[in-house]
Amino acid sequence: MAEFWVPRALQPRIALHCGMARAGRESARATGPRDPAAIRGASTQREAGRAFGTRQSLAGRYLVALALLLGAACAQAQVVSTRIWPAKDYTRVTLETKAQIKFQLFAVKNPERLVLDLEGAELSPALAELDGKVATGDPYIDKLRVGRNRPGVVRVVIDLKAEVKPQVFMLKPVGEYGHRLVLDLYPVVAPDPLAALIEADGKLPKPTQEPVPLPDKPRVSRLATIVIDPGHGGEDPGALGRLGSREKDITLTIAKRLKQLIDAEPEMRAVLTRDGDFYVPLQTRVDKARRVKADLFVSVHADAFIRPHARGSSVFALSERRATSEAARWLAKKENEADLVGGVNIDVKDRYLAQTLLDLSQTATIEHSLRLGNAVLGELGHVNTLHKAQVEQASFAVLKSPDVPSILVETAFISNPEEEKRLNDEIYQDQLARAILGGIKRYLTKHPPRPSPVALN
Ligand SMILES: [Zn+2]
Repeated sequence: MAEFWVPRALQPRIALHCGMARAGRESARATGPRDPAAIRGASTQREAGRAFGTRQSLAGRYLVALALLLGAACAQAQVVSTRIWPAKDYTRVTLETKAQIKFQLFAVKNPERLVLDLEGAELSPALAELDGKVATGDPYIDKLRVGRNRPGVVRVVIDLKAEVKPQVFMLKPVGEYGHRLVLDLYPVVAPDPLAALIEADGKLPKPTQEPVPLPDKPRVSRLATIVIDPGHGGEDPGALGRLGSREKDITLTIAKRLKQLIDAEPEMRAVLTRDGDFYVPLQTRVDKARRVKADLFVSVHADAFIRPHARGSSVFALSERRATSEAARWLAKKENEADLVGGVNIDVKDRYLAQTLLDLSQTATIEHSLRLGNAVLGELGHVNTLHKAQVEQASFAVLKSPDVPSILVETAFISNPEEEKRLNDEIYQDQLARAILGGIKRYLTKHPPRPSPVALN
């Protein structure tokens, strides 16, 4: 049995308090009503806990106060909502609580299992329904059981389909979410997007020993690889429409359509940064594009603004310095916050950030991103009004590949009820995808992929 890392911030205090609170509640019932003055006196959980530990002979009224205070803290540590996001990349289990919760994670072999002990937790309705949320096609979780293990400890046992590399961490409250305990199950050997691409690619010419005759005209030396990045996903719904549409669903539908269209082109192929409803950290999206040696990177989004009449399509490229407009700066900030909502293990994120900071010379790439952006914007103008007539620039984290021309397309405003309706319309989704494809093709006609010493074919 191996014990996993538990964040320093989550050391036993809360669990101990909750254990004491249970004892205290017994006294509370026996000794009488609450005393507001005493509650105010114990200003923090910590003080209250210390007081309880060192002055056990205090009068009953203090015990009553403590019991109520600690009881409230316990109630907050309860799991109020649970979600499971299965995907080939990794499966995420999210337990949402009103306060930080103490936990321990163990791996058990024969058969492979993970055991997650939640200390100070009760078997809440949200936890009880967790086992019903395991999808049959989950790549990693076979079954899941939740039960009371011992007083004050709820145990979650995850029966695995194969050995996994787990990561467990807490996320701070953000937006609609409270505290989240996140358990990510990664495969022991991460799938290699490059290997998957080569395997899936039926267009690649078969290797041959025969000398290849010289063609009459210069032919494209290799396929152009376009990475399509459907914004948001999983825990991060992105912007929400008034009719209930979620940006993450619309971006995935349009991106899948665009992939189909690109794959049908003889000299292009597409790779999605996500093909399902799960969150991919912003830097991982950039990393995937670089891993498959992408020629172009297109991130697909659906804009939102406070004013419901804001409308139109826009295209963005990276700015190394200042954003070209206040709205572009605001939007980049909003899109960059996806990692907070979607949830990123901070240890891993820091490593990626350090890597990105090494690559600071992006001027040539940005120049090409602007050309690509202009070509796509021109095509989008045929299917929707344009929010801005030029490609805008701001510091979008997802556009920071130092060597891959990258754009972010805000297809339309999901916050505009009329555009929200259109974004859900299959014909319009197809028109948008075709417009983006048209722009990519226009760009590639002028700037065909260069043969590269590490070219795939
Ligand atoms: Zn977005």
